[in-house]
Amino acid sequence: MDYLPLFFDLRARLCLVVGGGTVAQRKVELLLDAQATIKLVAPEIEPSLKELLSSGNHQLVEREIEADDFQGVGFVISATNNRQVNAWVSNQAKALHTPVNVVDDLELTDVVFPAIVDRSPIIAAVATGGASPVLTRRIRTLLETLIPEKMKFAAQFLGDQRSDLKARVPDIEKRRRLTEAFLESPAYTDAEEQRFEQAKLGLDQMIDEQDGSSESQGEVYVVGAGPGDPDLLTLKALQLMQKADIVLYDSLVSPEILQRARRDATKLYVGKKGGGESTAQESINEMLVRLGKAGHRVCRLKGGDPFVFGRGGEEIESLIEENIPFQVVPGISAANGCAAYAGIPLTHRDYSQSVRFVTGHPKQGQVELAWQEFAHKNQTVVFYMGLGGLEKICQQLIQHGRDPNTPIAIVASGTLPEQKVVTGKLDTIIGRVTKAELKRPTLIIVGEVVAFREKIKQS
Ligand code: SAH
Repeated sequence: MDYLPLFFDLRARLCLVVGGGTVAQRKVELLLDAQATIKLVAPEIEPSLKELLSSGNHQLVEREIEADDFQGVGFVISATNNRQVNAWVSNQAKALHTPVNVVDDLELTDVVFPAIVDRSPIIAAVATGGASPVLTRRIRTLLETLIPEKMKFAAQFLGDQRSDLKARVPDIEKRRRLTEAFLESPAYTDAEEQRFEQAKLGLDQMIDEQDGSSESQGEVYVVGAGPGDPDLLTLKALQLMQKADIVLYDSLVSPEILQRARRDATKLYVGKKGGGESTAQESINEMLVRLGKAGHRVCRLKGGDPFVFGRGGEEIESLIEENIPFQVVPGISAANGCAAYAGIPLTHRDYSQSVRFVTGHPKQGQVELAWQEFAHKNQTVVFYMGLGGLEKICQQLIQHGRDPNTPIAIVASGTLPEQKVVTGKLDTIIGRVTKAELKRPTLIIVGEVVAFREKIKQS
């Protein structure tokens, strides 16, 4: 290890910054974030930098740097564009055993600035020893995803509770176990969401029940996994997929998405079986309740959005009945995903002023829907689960007065690498679809907007 990572309390230190341009300014901003007192020396100082240091006990010295400037200084940054000056500053600092950073010059530097994720009081820092600033930034982006903004509230809460917790649970090992259990509990979510009173109640209860006499309550996350492309997962979906110890998923959830769940989580398939029969909804509901009661964090991962033809409502109903805490995370629904990836705007100021999401799943062989309402032009109608009933859908639309020339698109495996799009008119599409031998899942989009695909074709 070439550098020892440390977190440096600068509040009682005078920091010397040499240089008066934008590079110096970036460092000054960071030092100010860390509440340092700054002495800035440069023959010319940018007005914005002067402005930054105009209040507080900071000193602005508008001349060349001198040896005396190092007196009483606890940290030195050289940010000039003159290597000779930088080298002299570095030597002076080193002779006084004062830590020094020379911007963009590792040779002259003994303290490097890492890339940081600031969720104070949580601070994550990354450095690659100057090997690659681009890679460093990439890692920082990954950390930003892993440390959600709201985690800082949980950290604040734990910080506030720390001395109380120490007094009430003096045994260090017990305290560690209790804190770990807290991190996995719904009370932790309360802390993240700034419901501090509830979080405190939860923590108190855990302290009272410390000896493991009571089982901890689980939590269910009903998460929309989007239409297929794993990059369309939301950050929140990813975070909860990483948190859950059991994942229940169905057939629309691709292996690439499932891979992003926690590696050691138990993954249970509850989608369609070989013969095409789905796991009964009641048994999924029961399973969620049972696992939640047993104290698990369960991620119910569903294709698209859980509240769009996803039966998410039914699942949370049983959780509510049984008092199991839950969260619902929206996902990109197939209509949105397929439309974007197929180059079809769902609405358009001139051609479509509304859009409907309709189930095309036939009930006892009949698609019984408000056809006369779908027949008006200037609206987009999206049919989910409609491939089997496509012929009926087209017939009904035409019979109820929609122009047989209305454009229609079938999007198969939308947003996935194998996406296929077949377009036509209401009275010609059937032949084309039969020829194309599309694989499910497929989505039907009807409306004048489909013609736009030709203009903004993406696949
Ligand atoms: N909750 C889901 C819909 C579940 S119903 C959502 O919001 O998207 C299942 C239907 O969604 C499928 O029959 C199909 O019509 C549609 N669908 C889901 N993913 C799709 C995809 N990647 N491409 C095309 N259609 C899709």
